[in-house]
Amino acid sequence: MTKEERRLWYDFLKALPVTVNRQKVIGPYIVDFCCYEARLIIELDGSQHFEPNAINADRDRDADLRDLGFTVLRYSNAEIHKNFRGVCEDILNHINQNKGTEHMDYTKLKNCELFLFDMDGTLYLGDEVYDGARELMFDFPRMGKRYIYLTNNSSRAGEDYITRLRRLGFPCKRENVFTSGMATGMYLNQRHPGASVYLAGTKAFHRELKSYGINLVNDELGHTEADLVDVVVQGFDTELVYEKLERACHFLRRGAAFIAANPDWVCPMPADEVLPDCGSICALLTASSGKEPTYIGKPNRNMVDVISAMTGVPNEKICCVGDRLYTDIAVAQNAGAVSVLVLSGETSAEMAAAAERQPDYILPSVKELHEIIR
Ligand SMILES: [Mg+2]
Repeated sequence: MTKEERRLWYDFLKALPVTVNRQKVIGPYIVDFCCYEARLIIELDGSQHFEPNAINADRDRDADLRDLGFTVLRYSNAEIHKNFRGVCEDILNHINQNKGTEHMDYTKLKNCELFLFDMDGTLYLGDEVYDGARELMFDFPRMGKRYIYLTNNSSRAGEDYITRLRRLGFPCKRENVFTSGMATGMYLNQRHPGASVYLAGTKAFHRELKSYGINLVNDELGHTEADLVDVVVQGFDTELVYEKLERACHFLRRGAAFIAANPDWVCPMPADEVLPDCGSICALLTASSGKEPTYIGKPNRNMVDVISAMTGVPNEKICCVGDRLYTDIAVAQNAGAVSVLVLSGETSAEMAAAAERQPDYILPSVKELHEIIR
């Protein structure tokens, strides 16, 4: 494009009757931009040579976007150069076609001050970090907003998450991590101060509860001489042995309160594998003791309430971002916070459409979230 053509193109973008949320300029080329209000995404090929393969790579994302009612338009710079007027008319036609249809209002989302991120299926899966996830997290200070990595996984301690997130290239300080294990420690101190507690959990969870001053009657392996305890705590115990189940069942049948760190049935793994999670272990204990646990992690609104109290941000200015309807989205709905479902994990667009309580926003991935709030 010549300088004059570029100026013309900028003027055209500025004159569009919708807000341009993102506009990325690389060298002399505008690569792509989005008009979320018009549910329109326009991507421009930065090179003079149109690369059909690049389009194939994005086909999955496009399918998700189309399911959500977005129109994706792609033009090469060569095309704009050759037929500037035609491309402009094409874009305007699409915007006009969408006129009168209900456009998504992102005000509530943009007004959020604190974002709580699920990790697995939202920012990464296993060791594979999703496109745009790191860029989003590093951009929070510039946006003047705060973030916390929020996890239901009670098999690891907060410290373990700091190490893991940094290894994956994410920014992370102590105050940026909150786990269901930490919430359990706080809950025990509030509701059962000084109680003797039997923990069926990992060594990491054991250390975490110790750091909250919890009076644990067992060692890190679950061994105990105690005959009675006030509370049994069950976690996502990846170091589970039969003795722990046997002790937990024993105490529960003798009147101990039953508290579980998180309700998840399974923990998602790469290659479509899952691990039995805390909810499944609790089902075994419920079957054998007749007792139902109180779950502390998502979707219990306690997770958001505690963070609101710690940070001073009211629930309605907190946004929960995650890939799972029954934990990540439900916790936001239970706590009166804003919810964003991303389709990068276990929930498909069809599953989302069938949900009884709809999330406030549904986006293909955190990359699109960044484009809206940046
Ligand atoms: Mg997840």
